[in-house]
Order: sequence, then C-alpha cells, then structure tokens
Amino acid sequence: MRKYSFSVLILLFISIQVFAQKAENTDEHCGMIPYLKMLNKQDPTLAKRIEAMKFSEQEYIKVHGSKLRDPKEVIRIPVVVHIVYNTPEQNIPDEQVYAQIWSLNQDFRRRNGDTINTPQMFKSVAADCGIEFCLAVRTPNDEITNGIIRTFTDKTEFGLDNTIKSSLTGGDSPWDCRHYLNIWVCDISGNYLGYAQYPGGTDSTDGVVVDYQVFGFVNVIHPHYNLGRTATHEIGHWLDLYHIWGDDFGSCDGSDYVDDTPNAKDANYYCPTHPHTTSCNNTGEMFMNYMDYVYDGCFNLYTIGQREKMLAAINLYRSDLLTSKGCNEVIGIPEQKKLSSLRIHPNPINNQFFVDGLEDLKGSVSFQIMNPLGCLVYTRTINNYPDQSFQIDLSGIQNGTYFLKITYKNTDRSFKLIKL
Ligand SMILES: [Zn+2]
Repeated sequence: MRKYSFSVLILLFISIQVFAQKAENTDEHCGMIPYLKMLNKQDPTLAKRIEAMKFSEQEYIKVHGSKLRDPKEVIRIPVVVHIVYNTPEQNIPDEQVYAQIWSLNQDFRRRNGDTINTPQMFKSVAADCGIEFCLAVRTPNDEITNGIIRTFTDKTEFGLDNTIKSSLTGGDSPWDCRHYLNIWVCDISGNYLGYAQYPGGTDSTDGVVVDYQVFGFVNVIHPHYNLGRTATHEIGHWLDLYHIWGDDFGSCDGSDYVDDTPNAKDANYYCPTHPHTTSCNNTGEMFMNYMDYVYDGCFNLYTIGQREKMLAAINLYRSDLLTSKGCNEVIGIPEQKKLSSLRIHPNPINNQFFVDGLEDLKGSVSFQIMNPLGCLVYTRTINNYPDQSFQIDLSGIQNGTYFLKITYKNTDRSFKLIKL
C-alpha cells in the first residue's frame, strides 16, 4: 500500500515535470496549429482549398521560377497596426511599432546584422526576399494616416479565435485586407506569441496577430523574443510559409513544400549551436530559419525556396497588394483640408461679403464668381494675403444666384451665393 502510494507520487511528479516542459517548449510560440484546427472546424472546405493552393503555387514557381529567383522590383506591402489595449503597458508606443517595421525590412531583405551567423552550409540558399513593409500613410479612403490605430478594450486578453479582429467583439475591425496587411497587437491569452491567417481565408479575419510583449525590439518585455521576429515568422505564414519541420511533431512525413529547407522531425527551441542535431536524413537542422521556434536572437534567414513560395502566394492570392496605394503619400488632400475650413458671411449677401479662414493659405489664392449660365462676373487673385478675412464687393451686380469658386494650388472649393 505504502509502495503503491509512493509510485503514484512519482507518477504525479513526472506528469507535472512533463507538463512544465511542454509549456516551456511549445506554448510560448506560434498559435498556427490550434488556430488552423479551429478554422478547419468552422470551414470544412478550407483544407481542400489550402491543398489546391499549394499545387497552384508549385506550378506558378515552375513557370516563373527564374523571375522569382531574381526579383527585379521590391514589393512594398502597406501595414496598418491595430493596437488594442486594456492596460497602459499594452498600449505600446509608436517607437515600438517603427522598430518592428524596421526589423521586418531587415529580415525580409536579408540586411540583418546576424546574417554572419548563417552556417556555411546554408549560405548559398539564404535569400533577400525582395519584400518590404511600410506603415500605411494613406487610408482606404485616401486620407492621411500614420498607420497606427489605437483602441481601448474592456477585454483583458484575446484567444486564438479572431475576436481581436472585430470591434463588435472587443477588438478592432480590419482595413481592406486586399490592399493592406493588418497587424493586431494585443495580449494573447496563454503563452502564444502570435498567429496569422494563411492566404485563401475570410477577408474579415485576414492578417497577423502578435502579442504586445514581443512586438518590435524597443520596450519589449520578453527576454528571448525581443527582436521583432515573431512578426517576421507570422508574416511568413501570412505569405503561405509553413513551419520547416512540416507541422508533424515526431515524424518525417510532413512537408513545408519548400525544397531548400531540410526536413526535420520536430521544431527546435531555445538557442542551439550549429550543427545542433540531425533528423529525417538531414545533415544539420536549419533551426536558424525564421519558420522554426528558436529564440529571436538565433534566427537569421529565409531561403530562396521560401522567397519563391511567398512571391508566388503574393502574385496568386494577394495580388491587390501590388497596386495598393497604402505606401503612397496623400497629395493634394492637405490643400483640400485647408479649403474646407473656409467660411463666407453673410450669405445671402447685400453688396459685400467676407471669405474667412485664409490664414493657412500661403501663396496664390484665386476667386471667381459666375452666374448660373457660367459667365464670369468677378475675378481676383491674391498672393500671401496677410489677413484671415478677405472682402469681396458685388455692388453693381444684379441680384440673383451666383457661384464662388476658390482655387488654391491644384484644388478648389465652391460656394453658392444669393444676392438680395
Ligand atoms: Zn508558426
């Protein structure tokens, strides 16, 4: 009896140790496997669609391979970052967002300083992916933005269930996902660092979610995931990359559908030293690939094959990004905004009226007044007018309806005038 009790205690102890070990090795990582399971439950046709997409990509790479291996033009993807916070710590500063975008551009262009750590045996397949990211400077409605949206939420954390992606469920709704990469930054429940939606999913949930503790590389709370590479990894998924071990823990059957990433039996963790281990007949595991599970400081490459797969996915399934205006500064809108602050009074008018709000209009401003037949009855141009109010005298012009057009730079605004 006593011996039996002791055995139970030993078993219990081992169970606790195993649980602790698993939590440390797997939970603090990408949420793609449980997230994809949930999506497959919601949409039984998804798995078939994803399978078909893999073959379409392979065909696309066969046809366009040489172009994909030597990308002539860099693809710029506009990013909108939705910071959804419940505490001040979760409301991360702009600098942290800027750092994250900088870090993405280093990694995807292979400009990261730690490329020197890429083992010799993998250097020939390491790739500049020809993909860059910008914080959006133009909204889908052609308005100016800094690409950062801040939303307070009552929710203290978000699961891997897309609730972060709608204002109806305590999160923030995405911008047009066909023209922007939506990244949500929040407190993800459990130990997950992030998750992403593969191409081919629902528009309203498309994008990447990253825990606020591991976003960017300034003010980052986590001691090991502190160089912005959770986003590098999750955007890899968003561009249709899989984990390099093929998501089949303990087996060599799975594949990431990329030829130059050696297959592996399991994910790698912590910060191994090359050559770390071998499995699945590889001659050394590519644990430093962004699609493995090591610490941020131990990642350093995407491969040529992964670049081809990402570029194929963009051209096949995310092609609207190629014509997105999200990275293009808004031109002309500031002038329109200045014109929108103009006011006229009185109206209806007797003989004189005033145009107010000229203080922000530096340079040349033109006034034209036309009757309903389009005949010009008044014209005047002022330059660097010193006052905020300009008087126009219409005495001598018969009563009736007129239209005042004010032109500033390449834009204009019209008012309807009634002279009594
Ligand atoms: Zn992942």
